[in-house]
Parts: sequence; C-alpha cells; structure tokens
Amino acid sequence: MTALPGRLVLLGTPVAHSLSPAFQNAALRAAGIALTYEALDVSPAALADVLRGLVRQRAAGNVTVPHKEAAARLCDRLTPLASRVGAVNTFWTDDDGALVGDNTDVHGAEALARAAFGRTPANVRVALLGAGGSAAAVLAAAERWPGCYVALFARTAERATALAARFRGVAHVEPTLEDALRDARLVVNATPVGLANDAMPVPPARLPRRAAVMDLVYRRGETAWVRAARARGLRGCDGLTMLVEQGALAFERWFGVAPDREAMWSAVR
Ligand code: NAP
Repeated sequence: MTALPGRLVLLGTPVAHSLSPAFQNAALRAAGIALTYEALDVSPAALADVLRGLVRQRAAGNVTVPHKEAAARLCDRLTPLASRVGAVNTFWTDDDGALVGDNTDVHGAEALARAAFGRTPANVRVALLGAGGSAAAVLAAAERWPGCYVALFARTAERATALAARFRGVAHVEPTLEDALRDARLVVNATPVGLANDAMPVPPARLPRRAAVMDLVYRRGETAWVRAARARGLRGCDGLTMLVEQGALAFERWFGVAPDREAMWSAVR
C-alpha cells in the first residue's frame, strides 16, 4: 500500500472497552499522521457490507472478536500467514482496490512467548488451552519454535481435534487438562477466562513446577493468573504485550514505518 488510507478502523463487537484506539491514536500522533483510529461496533450480519463500504473509502484497520475468520473469507487476497491461521486481524485496501488481509497476531504471540518464557521457546513441551482463532495464531508461531511440541486441550474436544489436524506437525490433542499440563514448560491461555474477572484457566497450584505462563488475556495491571503464577515463583506475562505488538506490526503494514512503541505503551499502562 503506498497512499495513506482514507480511514483507519477497528471492527468488532463489542469494541467499547478495546484499548486499541488509545495506543493506535498515540502512535498516529507521535508519527504526525493526520488520521484518527475509530472503533466500529459491527454485527456479524453487517460485516460484508461494512467491509465493502470501507474498501470504497480506501480504508485500513484491524478486525477483532468475533469477525477474524469471516474477514479472512471476505478478503480479495490474504498474506501466507493469514491463510495459514485462517483469520485476519489486519487489513488494508491496495492500490488496485483489492481488500488484503494479514495476521499480525502470530508475531504478537511470538513476542508474548519471548516475554513470558524469557527467550524464543526451544525443545520444550507447551500446553495450549483453547482452540479458537487466537490458539491458531499461537500454533502458527509455535511451528517456528525449534523442537517444541504443543499439547492442546479445549473444553469442546471437536474444536481441538479440528485445530490440531491443521497443525499436525506441531500439535496433538490431550483428553484432560492434567494430561496437557504434564511436563509443560510453557502454559498458554488462549481462552477468555480471566477477561471479565479474576477467574484462572489453571489453578496456580496445578501449574508444573518449572513452567512459565503466557496469558493471551490482558487487564490493566496484569491478569490475576499471571500475578498468582509469579507469586509461586514462576515466570509469566499477560496479553498486553501481544496486543501492543500486533498493533505495532499492523501500523507498519499500513504506513510502511515502525510506530513509536513507547508512545503506544504509555497509552495503555
Ligand atoms: P474464540 O475463537 O472464541 O476461542 C475461545 C476458546 O476458548 C474456545 O476453545 C472456547 O471453547 C474456549 N472457552 C471459551 N470460554 C471458556 C471457558 N469459560 N472455559 C474454558 N474454555 C473456554 O476466541 P479467541 O479469538 O481465540 O480469543 C480467546 C481470548 O484470547 C480472547 O478472549 C482474548 O482475551 C484473547 N486474545 C488476546 C489477544 C491479544 O492481543 N492479547 C489477541 C486475540 C485474543 P468453546 O469452543 O467450547 O466455546
């Protein structure tokens, strides 16, 4: 994309509590770009029409829950990573009028794994809880972690089986949470547990002794699960790192320059 987008939006429902407008607008101000990042509440039934209208305005933006998979189906072109994950979280309108979809959640998950684990995971067993779009992004990241194997557990077993089949080289399904946790050195929460309250995806006492925790859920001041894991002496990081990093990479796709990450972090701390 060469020209400045006509509009910059976040499509989701609900979007009222999203932190993305705060840090994207901070990055736009820091870069001196005269655009405002707007959050648009869009119902699933309206998504296709809204995207068509946005293409006419040469818009770019992000897609969040619950539209990521539908957006992938509606794009004219996908990057290889968006195809691999089957979901789009970042889009733009190309000069030829095509709607292009990418997935920056994968590199966001990679950045979160490094923050939680201390380095890129290598030669360890990873327990992954949840089998939705963000679990797929974690698996696409894990495909690049040398010697790692992912034990997947989700409450809806069919969803876990279908996801593991798409990432056969790196993941297998475990029948119980206990089985998934066995010998794990990194435990990843890709469920919404902990988003609305202090509920925890795994009771801290059941975490393997040497595991680090990687929580895709984020709260201002960290999630209760990450705080509890750290209180037991384990490493951990919540999803704010992933959120800011996927947003920073989206900014690079739209404008061809890296944003001021410190300005982004200042807006959400
Ligand atoms: P999703 O597609 O709806 O998948 C959620 C998964 O969690 C499904 O396997 C679902 O199981 C399971 N689940 C839902 N509620 C549960 C519960 N109470 N107990 C156990 N499992 C439960 O959602 P997603 O897009 O993958 O996102 C999941 C979470 O990741 C979001 O809530 C968000 O907080 C976080 N996230 C963070 C970032 C970031 O940048 N930090 C990015 C993306 C997502 P069923 O199929 O049985 O419902």
